[in-house]
Amino acid sequence: MKIEQCDVVIIGAGPSGSVAAALLLQQGRKVIVLEREQFPRFSIGESLLPQSMEYLQQAGMLQAVVEAGFQYKNGAAFVRGDRYTAFDFRDKHSSGWGTTYQVQRANFDHLLAKEAQRQGADIRFQHSVISVDVESEKPSVVVRDADNNEYRVEADFILDASGFGRVLPRLLQLETPSNFPVRGAIFTHIADGIAAPDFDRNKIRITVHPEHCNVWYWLIPFAGGRCSIGVVGETEFLKQYQGSDSERLHALVMEDPASCQLLKNAKWDTPARAITGYSANVKSLWGKNYALLGNAGEFLDPVFSSGVTIAVKSASMAAGVLQRQFAGGRVDWENDYAVPMKKGVDAFRTFVESWYAGDFQRVIFHENQQPEVRRMIAAILAGYAWDESNPYVADSKRRLNTLEEICV
Ligand code: FAD
Repeated sequence: MKIEQCDVVIIGAGPSGSVAAALLLQQGRKVIVLEREQFPRFSIGESLLPQSMEYLQQAGMLQAVVEAGFQYKNGAAFVRGDRYTAFDFRDKHSSGWGTTYQVQRANFDHLLAKEAQRQGADIRFQHSVISVDVESEKPSVVVRDADNNEYRVEADFILDASGFGRVLPRLLQLETPSNFPVRGAIFTHIADGIAAPDFDRNKIRITVHPEHCNVWYWLIPFAGGRCSIGVVGETEFLKQYQGSDSERLHALVMEDPASCQLLKNAKWDTPARAITGYSANVKSLWGKNYALLGNAGEFLDPVFSSGVTIAVKSASMAAGVLQRQFAGGRVDWENDYAVPMKKGVDAFRTFVESWYAGDFQRVIFHENQQPEVRRMIAAILAGYAWDESNPYVADSKRRLNTLEEICV
């Protein structure tokens, strides 16, 4: 079998893989990225958070993203019945970017991959990683290309950025179940035809189901009069809806009077898709000769659009640890990578749990809200879940519990 060598092999060219590749190239590393699909390819996860802009900038990709003409985004709006509350991410506790974009991921991921290639990344599309050896002195992966040829890539380190493919968690038996109930999503893209003058295209719109507080819809406007629309609920709940995924999604959306009115001129021109059981966890985010990035590690839940931000943050942190490792310094992957990474993910988790219990919904729709507390919550919703100057990060569970008790 043919053997190739590099410094770091990256599995997957989604946001975490492309950003990691660019950052390692900046350090002068030889990187090979192996990507199972041909790009552009569909992916879910279309509403970015402003915190992600910092890592796109670090990776030298920001200008290309800004110039691509994606829908500008400055916040998140929440709707429940006749209640509406909007967070403007420019008015937030943490410093840093307050705006970002809503993106068709096929275009966005392709753009990031092309940016990584422009910087010198060797990205091999339609090359799937099928096995891995992390125990040998030089870790390696076996790759199968589109013509069924197999070859081995040896490296000093492996980054698994394979997202829902979860290559190393599967091959190394690292998977552990998520604590969340099994939920699913049904979603599509539509020509939204929204004419309502008060509709804010610059914000993701999250609507709570009129009867079930643990079922919610997303409406993510894109540039050009289209949007992504989806519904999330426990799989047992979604099973009650019969027919094609398009019929099920349409029936669910029409149950919310405000969405029904807002989308009265919409053209449902794209077949819906469904995904279930996407929440996942692992025993460890690293091991001998490897680390897991983005969704290949833990995936929480889509409600606060945190996935891509976590993905590119993890790429940046892992690239920093690798830089010290390659320079011969002492690194401790647990304390330098896994612990700080999980700190932010756990802050998001507190908010996700509270959302599904209905408590966070009570907080954000409450009539009397302190502006400073709202700015702290806005910072987390904007992705600044690692900023320990925010009490809702540093002590998220206790602070949020207290707030929930006040907002009865
Ligand atoms: P991915 O983007 O999944 O990329 C992984 C890549 O690895 C893929 O291109 C895949 O083809 C490749 N790969 C897989 N297996 C192999 C293999 N064996 N060999 C080689 N390559 C392989 N996030 C947000 O930020 N905003 C949102 O609004 C949002 N909404 C979501 C809605 C739903 C319903 C769900 C389920 C998720 C949502 N997310 C959202 C999360 C988002 O989809 C992910 O967190 C994000 O895509 C993770 O990026 P990644 O780079 O880790 O992995």
